[in-house]
Amino acid sequence: MIRSSANSTARPIRIRFDAGALRRNHLIARRHAGAARLWCVVKADGYGHGLARVVDALAEVADGFGLIELENALALREAGVRQPLLMMEGFYDAGELPLFAEYRLTPVLHRLDQVEALRAAALPVRLPVYLKLNTGMNRLGLAADELERALTLLADRADITLMTHFADADGPHGIAAQMVHFHALRAGRNLPVCLANSAALLRYPEARGDWARPGIMLYGGSPFPEVTAESLGLEPVMTLASELIAVRDIAAGEHVGYGCTFTADRPMRIGIVACGYADGYPRHAPTGTPILVAGQRTRTLGRVSMDKLCVDLTDLPKVSLGDTAILWGAGLPADEVAAAAGTISYELFCAVAARVPWVEAE
Ligand SMILES: *Cc1c(COP(=O)(O)O)cnc(C)c1O
Repeated sequence: MIRSSANSTARPIRIRFDAGALRRNHLIARRHAGAARLWCVVKADGYGHGLARVVDALAEVADGFGLIELENALALREAGVRQPLLMMEGFYDAGELPLFAEYRLTPVLHRLDQVEALRAAALPVRLPVYLKLNTGMNRLGLAADELERALTLLADRADITLMTHFADADGPHGIAAQMVHFHALRAGRNLPVCLANSAALLRYPEARGDWARPGIMLYGGSPFPEVTAESLGLEPVMTLASELIAVRDIAAGEHVGYGCTFTADRPMRIGIVACGYADGYPRHAPTGTPILVAGQRTRTLGRVSMDKLCVDLTDLPKVSLGDTAILWGAGLPADEVAAAAGTISYELFCAVAARVPWVEAE
């Protein structure tokens, strides 16, 4: 349906997309969701995987797609996507509302003035509406009195689902306090609910609700710092790979890279990989960040440059010029690289640069 052309470059860096892995991850989300339906979250260009690629891979199986960007939602509709589309930040300006009606987009309303604007717009169609409630995240969402007012304003005008978002479903606070708050706000009203992100879906069956909103797990990232994606049954969807474009021996006392931050304490053999921060590899990844070279695990050395990074080949004598280096993906979870670099897989995925050509996994 939607196809993005696999471009190519002379430089050997590639990013491989595994549609089968995405679909298998989606099945795992389904298994955890029970009877709940799933908004597959595809904001931020499908977490950096390419919106068209992701939606194409899930076209036959997704109940709906959740995103942020109006232009992307319109593009999905133009490409023939028929599933419901949840606009997770709603509209930014009331002038967008006719497009919401024309393209059948489901707005998340998180401020009372959005509810008032929707009512005032008197759209020609009855749109489903999500009301987002603030239950402790303190980012977006209505308070109790605002919810009352919103329900009054929308009475008989919209099919309403109540939504909230968890601040620490992946961490020690859990969801209990927010669930109590949510149920107090819901006050026994028999409205459908949409609560869980990936972490809550995986960890808290009581948060399944009527619809869940998994994102990172679809892409094979673990939402939990202490739980591997593999142990959750999740597979990497993107694999960032390049090649060794130089190999050299250095003597004890020699440095590697900008700033001379790494000093060899013995004779070493090092490799130079054609991947740097301008490809989306995190510049703050320190010496010791894991990397796979010719299928074997080793570590980065020194600072990441714009187009290159250095790796330790001292204990990999068979490795040679032109061998493959996997930065993350198949065989090396993005979560591990992210942890070494002090970030999360979400950020690595979203940061892959436009100059890196995509190829489809066979
Ligand atoms: C991004 C997002 C999600 C998905 O979160 P994951 O941790 O990637 O599963 C769910 N809900 C909202 C409101 C979001 O913004």
